[in-house]
Amino acid sequence: MNRQILVVEDETPIREMITFVLEQNGFNSVEAKDYEQAFALIKEPYPDLILLDWMLPGGSGIKIAKQLKRNEHTRNIPVIMLTARSDENDKVAGFDAGIDDYVTKPFSPKELIARIKAVIRRVSPTSLEEMIEFQGLSLDPVAHRVGIHGKPLDLGPTEFRLLHFFMTHTERVYSREQLLDNVWGVNVYVEDRTVDVHIRRLRKAITGAGHENFIQTVRGSGYRFSCNVN
Ligand code: CA
Repeated sequence: MNRQILVVEDETPIREMITFVLEQNGFNSVEAKDYEQAFALIKEPYPDLILLDWMLPGGSGIKIAKQLKRNEHTRNIPVIMLTARSDENDKVAGFDAGIDDYVTKPFSPKELIARIKAVIRRVSPTSLEEMIEFQGLSLDPVAHRVGIHGKPLDLGPTEFRLLHFFMTHTERVYSREQLLDNVWGVNVYVEDRTVDVHIRRLRKAITGAGHENFIQTVRGSGYRFSCNVN
């Protein structure tokens, strides 16, 4: 499942260059050209990371960063500031506002991608191409393999994506709608009931040594992946 990155940048050529580079590197991108558009796009499903220009029409990047950090839903979204300024004081102001890193313009595509990957790795250690494992249940995103204690499991593509999403977003309840947006995609129209069907298949597939209990039904809310099986 591709990571979603929000690019907030008012200069069209730079914004287009960034989104091009992101998509070439396996990220999905959403674009905003000013303060207002940025806030219109910062909603569920939240972006995995925000690239934020410093100087923007309608309100500065710093102002946006500060607002994000004040809101409990957006506080943990990593922010990389894009800036033409290399002044130390500006950097300090940015870090005070809670941003995670800086990229100074002009930057190379390679540098930008390296910074993004470093920040994602720092904020969510079980991300990107890394192998994920919970109590013997393992998922390898690169090889597209799932196993229980080394024994390979045969999963359908949807069940694989669902399990990948759960294993990288543990201990939180997701509604059927949120799962549809994150696993099937925002523009795919399927019924909520479809989620239940695939959850059932996934549970069945990972049955063994109690792993099926990792996917918990939260009555009236949705589903949660948790290794705390009590
Ligand atoms: Ca600008």
